[in-house]
Amino acid sequence: NKTITLNSRPVGKPQLSDFKFVDEEMPVIKEGEILLKTKFVSVDPYLRGRMSDAPSYVPPFELQKVMNSGVVAKVVESKNEKYKAGEFVTGALDWKEFQTSTGNNVLKVDAQTAPLSNYLGVLGMTGLTAYFGLTEIGKPKAGETIVVSGAAGAVGSVVGQIAKILGCRVIGIAGTDEKAALLKSEFGFDEAINYHTTKDMTKAIAEVCPNGVDIYYDNVSGAVSDSVHANINRLGRIIVCGAISAYNGTSVPQGPRVEPFLIRKSALMQGFIVSNYAEKFPEGMKHLSQWLSEGKLHAAETVVEGFENIPQAFIGLFEGRNKGKMIVKI
Ligand code: NDP
Repeated sequence: NKTITLNSRPVGKPQLSDFKFVDEEMPVIKEGEILLKTKFVSVDPYLRGRMSDAPSYVPPFELQKVMNSGVVAKVVESKNEKYKAGEFVTGALDWKEFQTSTGNNVLKVDAQTAPLSNYLGVLGMTGLTAYFGLTEIGKPKAGETIVVSGAAGAVGSVVGQIAKILGCRVIGIAGTDEKAALLKSEFGFDEAINYHTTKDMTKAIAEVCPNGVDIYYDNVSGAVSDSVHANINRLGRIIVCGAISAYNGTSVPQGPRVEPFLIRKSALMQGFIVSNYAEKFPEGMKHLSQWLSEGKLHAAETVVEGFENIPQAFIGLFEGRNKGKMIVKI
């Protein structure tokens, strides 16, 4: 049974050598347990934080211990009356080909309702992050202008699409021309900017936002965000969802202080963790699955195949290799 452990804590960008493949004996279930076969694995930027031992909102992974993340698995054997062989479940599970569970740390998912991988993306953590960050902090109103960074990724692509559904004008920032084109053609964004090739981002944002920026949904932080902040409107809302540009940094990035413009513009800047809204997840799921079934929401995924490619898929997040949710199919 193949498993993946944390071999070393990354310094800077994670390397393949930070992971180790370990073969363990095939697990055997006890009374009350189920045997799970991993089908889809979610790789996510937040796992980078857990590979370090700095304090965070989730405890760090331990060295030489198995890694975990969101997984969709198939029940292949059951000694638990709540589960039948052949059913599918999702939960925070180990990076193992097979593992046992009491059934208490997983939820059943239905392959008829949506493709199973969607439960790791648009109908999972990243979809809920997009929904609650935008609606609870951004409080978008029809006609407002929103800028989304990391726009072609899992969270960003859903944020932009929801903002369109809610009647906003949506501008996306992403790292390649191909992604910028996709934002408009596939996700319905009004404008898109490639931050790698645009020299003056502050000016470029001003040009596509003639009425300024009412909401900024930030997935990346750093210089990209400085240029959006410079365009924020009075009473603007800045949703601090992620800071991927800083995750591999070995020093604290310097930039303009935000207080002067927050005061001048009476703007709100708020960070959040999706689990803050756990009690409201059913409401979020209801909207996301309805929009998905109505075809208003497009669930883009980049699917990497093979258990042995989980570390590479994870590293790929920091190289911009994904469009939509990065998923590993086993
Ligand atoms: P994505 O699918 O967006 O994947 C990461 C993307 O980030 C890459 O494709 C790349 O796109 C971009 N990127 C990588 N390095 C940089 C960089 N140095 N500067 C700017 N962009 C970069 O990931 P997710 O949608 O899963 O997550 C997006 C953000 O949301 C992350 O910061 C994550 O930590 C955060 N998050 C927060 C949650 C919360 O509860 N607060 C929950 C889930 C996610 P490109 O080619 O455009 O550069």
